[in-house]
Amino acid sequence: MTLTSDPAATASDAAAFSTLRSDFYGFEDLLPEHEKTALAGLRSYLEAEVKPVVNGAWEKAEFPREILPGLHRQPVFGMQWDETKTFENSAVYRGWVALELARVDASVATYVGVQNGLAMGAIGVAGSPEQRAEWLPKLASGELIGAFGLTEPLSGSDSAQGLRTVARRDGDDWILDGAKRWIGNATFSDVTVIWARKADDGQVTGFIVPNDTPGFTATKIENKQSLRIVQNADIVLEGVRVPERLRLQNANTFRDTAAVLRLTRAEVAWAAVGNSIGAYEAALKYATERQQFGKPIAAHQLVQDLLAKSIGNITASIAMVTRVSQMLDHGTQRDEHAALAKAYATARMRETVAWAREAMGGNGIVLDYDVARHFADAEALYSYEGTREMNTLIVGKAITGQSAFV
Ligand SMILES: Cc1cc2nc3c(=O)[nH]c(=O)nc-3n(C[C@H](O)[C@H](O)[C@H](O)COP(=O)(O)OP(=O)(O)OC[C@H]3O[C@@H](n4cnc5c(N)ncnc54)[C@H](O)[C@@H]3O)c2cc1C
Repeated sequence: MTLTSDPAATASDAAAFSTLRSDFYGFEDLLPEHEKTALAGLRSYLEAEVKPVVNGAWEKAEFPREILPGLHRQPVFGMQWDETKTFENSAVYRGWVALELARVDASVATYVGVQNGLAMGAIGVAGSPEQRAEWLPKLASGELIGAFGLTEPLSGSDSAQGLRTVARRDGDDWILDGAKRWIGNATFSDVTVIWARKADDGQVTGFIVPNDTPGFTATKIENKQSLRIVQNADIVLEGVRVPERLRLQNANTFRDTAAVLRLTRAEVAWAAVGNSIGAYEAALKYATERQQFGKPIAAHQLVQDLLAKSIGNITASIAMVTRVSQMLDHGTQRDEHAALAKAYATARMRETVAWAREAMGGNGIVLDYDVARHFADAEALYSYEGTREMNTLIVGKAITGQSAFV
């Protein structure tokens, strides 16, 4: 997808949204003009079309599917997964996209992360050229919705060793049996990439499973209090028959699964910064409007302390995620670099959303003021795509040479 594909991205958008106020040191200026213009168009689209619907959707715990056609016209999808596997846009730009999405709503950022990063990423990284050509354009356009099924009821952080879903060869087909948990988008996806252990050699491989295959059942996880808009599913696989042509042809060991996660982990760090900014900007606006003791609460020193600490967290995190994505662009990023960024940015996010909520007093817990949603959504970002503990252990192993996983 080219960055000029959205007709709404005009020069006037760029002028109106040319700088993000919360980008205190101006990191966005490191982007080339065409990427800045694309982001400006995305920003104005999200403010106009997505922001007005997210609190209502969050309250009802429903995904606002009416936004999908417009969202899929944005310069967001498919950028890194064209059939040639070349990167049309920089990783730094893709990070900014994740930030802008989460700044308005972390659930919408998660939808994109699953569709564009995990589902399309799995096919982009581990699919054959024929599989990439068949599936990626339809997923990029939104004609098909995808999901990514790795986590299981009995296996989360230890999925490399603990994966229990099994794939048995039967002639030209495979038979899948097992269960998955937490699978985003899977209640309405058309296809789900299912990771399973082969019965013959114990190695992990992936399958593009159409959700209407007999034996495949996806049930929505109810009563979530974080990312309520994201539709996470429990999946049961009972004798699900999948032809060999739907097995990801280059998924031969768990290392190939990990290669997908490696590409998306830093983008979750960017989304954490976006979620922090969404909360901070709502609190800043409120603080300049709300009067107590005869002046705006923004004029009280202790409120300024909350806001100044928040912009410090945001600025330090943008610096870190910018550099880690530059390293991906330059081919020097390693697992521990992305792991440190994810652990650090999500930990700073948890502080920042709490300070934003504090600055708003009672209204900080009312959905209408936005901060309550960013506050609650921080918890899921903190845990998915590797918990802080798992990412810390990856960093710990890199800096000490000692593995402390078990
Ligand atoms: C909203 C949401 C969306 C998700 N979307 C998807 C998706 O689309 N697809 C998918 O496959 N998965 C998805 N996940 C799953 C997610 O990746 C897992 O929740 C995550 O990997 C953690 O696994 P777990 O929840 O089973 O926790 P566990 O692995 O059970 O961990 C529980 C706690 O124990 C800690 N712990 C575990 N082992 C160790 C250790 N060795 N040392 C120290 N601490 C340890 C963990 O850090 C954590 O604090 C999603 C999760 C959420 C919440």
